[in-house]
Amino acid sequence: MQVIETTEGFRKALEAQRTSGRPIGLVPTMGFLHAGHLSLMERAAVECGTVAVTIFVNPLQFGAGEDLSSYPRDLDRDQELAAEAGADFLFVPAVAEMYPDRMLTTVSVAEVSDGLEGSCRPTHFAGVATVVAKLFNIAGPCRAYFGEKDWQQLAVVRRMVQDLSYPVEVVGCPIVREPDGLAMSSRNARLTPADRQAASVVSRALFTGRAAIETGVGPAEVRRLVASTIAAEPRADLDYAEVVQEGTGWRLLAAARFGTVRLIDNVGAAH
Ligand code: AMP
Repeated sequence: MQVIETTEGFRKALEAQRTSGRPIGLVPTMGFLHAGHLSLMERAAVECGTVAVTIFVNPLQFGAGEDLSSYPRDLDRDQELAAEAGADFLFVPAVAEMYPDRMLTTVSVAEVSDGLEGSCRPTHFAGVATVVAKLFNIAGPCRAYFGEKDWQQLAVVRRMVQDLSYPVEVVGCPIVREPDGLAMSSRNARLTPADRQAASVVSRALFTGRAAIETGVGPAEVRRLVASTIAAEPRADLDYAEVVQEGTGWRLLAAARFGTVRLIDNVGAAH
């Protein structure tokens, strides 16, 4: 696995791979890798000739007072894990490499970015869309792997690709969970032991909600059930619980804070 720090180096390396007939699988991350990230890389390795992983803790997508400075990082460990999972290239740009000047241009995806995470983090998705647009422009034509863990982010990226004609095929991948149901997240490492134990309430509430909606309980009542299940955990501070229509079924989503750590999760449900 080759570690690359410059945009030009990354662009040229991937161009050479495409020229020699190897399609690119791109896996954008913020690092502190866990089994969720590795599942995206392993899938990319099966489906693409070359796997390119990016690790960049993107300041643009963090609001004032959010956890940019305390976001967990361990590049040495990430290098080993990415290589084991099949990465051929690891792009690890510094902030000054990605943003050498003030950003006067941003990409924002209207409507899809509203509500849910967008209500709690008003500048978040413009930061995400802008950095993903840059990564796509640097990487060139590729398949790009994103987790359903960040369900609204996946919708934002899909819509950006459609609206701006990026030569990118977006691949959504299922959520990888801990044995107690907690969705894997780099932020889980920052939970205190008591909060870590309490945090499984989020997935438990969503699974309970899924069972209810699949037996015919209405979405408003299911939303209240998910919210009250999470709110009943004294260590949890609920941001939102929502039930939205998705195709012919439903998507149940929740966000809650445990101490200084904010966690999100979601599940799909049949109609
Ligand atoms: P992050 O480093 O948190 O920005 O995540 C990078 C990518 O990994 C995003 O596409 C996430 O949706 C995905 N991801 C994060 N956690 C999980 C998980 N538990 N299961 C599957 N994908 C995940």
